[in-house]
Amino acid sequence: MRTEYDVIVVGGGPAGLAAACSARESGAEKVLVIERDREAGGILNQCIHNGFGLHYFKEELTGPEYAGRFIKHAKELGVSLLLDTMVLAVEEHTVTACNVKDGLLMLGGKAIVLAMGCRERTRGAVAIPGDRPAGIFTAGTAQRYINIEGQMVGRRVVILGSGDIGLIMARRMTLEGAKVLACVELMPYCNGLNRNIVQCLHDYGIPLYLSHTITNVEGLHRVERVTVAKVGADRKPIPGTEMYFDCDTLLLSVGLIPENELTRNADIPLDPATRGAMVYENMETGSPGIFSCGNVVHVHDLVDFVTAESQRAGAAAAAYAAGKGCAESKRTISIERGAHVTYTVPQAIRMENVSDKAELSFRVNQVFGDSEIRVTDGETLLCRYTREHMAPGEMEHITIPRVLLDKVRGTSLKVFVAAKEVQA
Ligand SMILES: Cc1cc2nc3c(=O)[nH]c(=O)nc-3n(C[C@H](O)[C@H](O)[C@H](O)COP(=O)(O)OP(=O)(O)OC[C@H]3O[C@@H](n4cnc5c(N)ncnc54)[C@H](O)[C@@H]3O)c2cc1C
Repeated sequence: MRTEYDVIVVGGGPAGLAAACSARESGAEKVLVIERDREAGGILNQCIHNGFGLHYFKEELTGPEYAGRFIKHAKELGVSLLLDTMVLAVEEHTVTACNVKDGLLMLGGKAIVLAMGCRERTRGAVAIPGDRPAGIFTAGTAQRYINIEGQMVGRRVVILGSGDIGLIMARRMTLEGAKVLACVELMPYCNGLNRNIVQCLHDYGIPLYLSHTITNVEGLHRVERVTVAKVGADRKPIPGTEMYFDCDTLLLSVGLIPENELTRNADIPLDPATRGAMVYENMETGSPGIFSCGNVVHVHDLVDFVTAESQRAGAAAAAYAAGKGCAESKRTISIERGAHVTYTVPQAIRMENVSDKAELSFRVNQVFGDSEIRVTDGETLLCRYTREHMAPGEMEHITIPRVLLDKVRGTSLKVFVAAKEVQA
């Protein structure tokens, strides 16, 4: 038996929920969200701190509150939610999934939206030397244990990596009575949002060691001690700079990897820079009728931007399902990464789909003070945007007006940073 839908969304996190609501609001009749967890809401369900929704709702919500608003809205709109169900494969117009109740499911979708989020890098991915005792967790796993399962993971904690999850867990562990001894970061800059550095480390007197790494983990059954050393410009430990921390827990916040197994198996082209699908202006992938949005495309720092991007994907999926997709494009402009830009999303713009402006997101590769983002077509400078501060931990967004895109000679644009001031 195959059930048919206009739009099927894989993943019920903030990206999937926003895409589904937007697809319904744009006219899609039958919209289904498939979520492998027992509840929709994605990673937000374990983020019980506030700081969500400042841009979108203009108020400060916790993660579950933010997710709750979209779950409620999706239900009001008549979006179907299939929980506890794992999607196994996605092909053109077909989604294969399974759950305990129904067994194997074959579902037909005129359009499909991929919104599977991302997972954390583990110890194996960063190859930390030393013993293999208990007490080493990814920061997100520890967050889930504490905030959802009600289990405290340790008492004396060192955190490796300064991503937002690590910073937030430094505060969370402190509030739960643990002693956070240090947050250790390999790079010379912090990888999290500025507001998290202040609110999660500075406010609690937790030291941040930039340009440092962990060179040894000791412990028979449980972590007992970690060694931290300074690194040089080559990121290699400098002998003689070792510090020792007696601790029972090591949390890792060393990066996120978009969950793109389904995307890869569907032969959808991926961008090695984002490790997500390459997408056009409306978040359509290289496979017509399959869209992608949220952390599975590129790792976001703020959920509000996930929502905005996913609404674009949902609206475009509804249009595709109604037979109004972008046929063969007559004018496609590819976006190239210039100096200091690590990636861009989208990677290409089809002019047929641009009414008044195109939105572009990207990240820079180092910390800048006063600087300018510039966009050229190789010959002419089309537009420039000034910034007082930019950092790799904070996603940048620019809007390019259609009138400027019309001036592009050739078939590509380049985005780069002209730095007036580089900060250490
Ligand atoms: C610890 C932490 C703190 C954060 N703090 C903030 C903050 O203070 N403010 C802020 O704005 N943002 C914050 N963020 C960022 C924000 O939460 C994320 O950007 C957002 O959750 C990404 O949404 P998503 O839907 O793309 O991914 P997710 O939330 O990860 O959702 C993806 C969903 O897809 C499901 N899924 C995956 N594969 C399958 C499959 N094969 N079949 C079925 N379902 C599947 C997953 O179970 C999951 O529910 C934080 C993130 C983290 C991790």
